Amino acid sequence: MIARALGVTRRFGSTVAVDQLDLDVAAGELVGLLGPNGAGKSTLISLLVGLRKPDSGRVELFGGDPRDARFRRELGMTPQETGLPTTLRVGEVVSFVSRHFPDPLPAGELLERFGLSGLEKRQTGGLSGGQKRRLAVALAFVGRPKLVVLDEPTTGLDVEGRRALWEGVRHFHAEGGTVLLTSHYLDEIENLASRVVVVGKGRVIADGPVDHVRGLVAVSRVSLTCPVPPPLDGVVHSEREGDRWELHTPDADALVRHLVRADVPFTALQVRPASLEEAFLTLTGETS
Ligand code: ADP
Ligand code: MG
Repeated sequence: MIARALGVTRRFGSTVAVDQLDLDVAAGELVGLLGPNGAGKSTLISLLVGLRKPDSGRVELFGGDPRDARFRRELGMTPQETGLPTTLRVGEVVSFVSRHFPDPLPAGELLERFGLSGLEKRQTGGLSGGQKRRLAVALAFVGRPKLVVLDEPTTGLDVEGRRALWEGVRHFHAEGGTVLLTSHYLDEIENLASRVVVVGKGRVIADGPVDHVRGLVAVSRVSLTCPVPPPLDGVVHSEREGDRWELHTPDADALVRHLVRADVPFTALQVRPASLEEAFLTLTGETS
């Protein structure tokens, strides 16, 4: 295992930020940690990279204690909040960081991967917010790490900036790199991650392929126009707006068969699967 948490708990006063959590990240995986604000994602990451110490349980990085620098040598990391010295030029920042590593990526290649080509001479204070964020993320890759940990890498980026960043992450992963990233953007997890770990209230709520996690709460949304209240067999939640009904059910086929058999006078039937976002809200118990 490249990174591992074993029964890890971390409190801040009376808040239990991470609660007896287990997580394994194997070589070559691209794992997305998904969860609402306050779920404990950043705290978990700070424990895994050795910035904080668990109150109980154990954390391993490359088989050792991440608080020992020897085990962080092959780690690249971008925290949720970063700052860049505003008067330094992009090229200077990259070369400053590069000098900490024996075999850094050439600056030009690094900047190109993250859509920052041609900005070497720009002072970081003159970059757009999105460019700053991409530079901060790119710096995690300078030392050719084996594991990159990115906390909310695309927060504040526009669509184009997010795509450029995803490209950089995909490139790294395609070459065998291991990635652990947090996000509350569901399309980000769907686009990037092969495995999603849903975190809520400091615990792992679900862990598996994106499809599997969606499947855990495979609620379909059946909408129809109907002048009379339809039967609600197997419906877990219903909403009504005039004659238009939206029925949430784990088994849309059974519901529709039942509606037909009962001769319910419905029209304009629509069935759609719950999005990952809806699944996520159901999993964390925040909705419907
Ligand atoms: P996330 O990254 O998923 O938004 P965090 O790990 O930042 O979640 O926070 C988890 C919980 O721990 C929250 O309730 C947060 O308020 C609390 N917390 C995090 N860091 C600190 C801190 N340094 N001091 C006090 N409470 C904290
Ligand atoms: Mg966070």
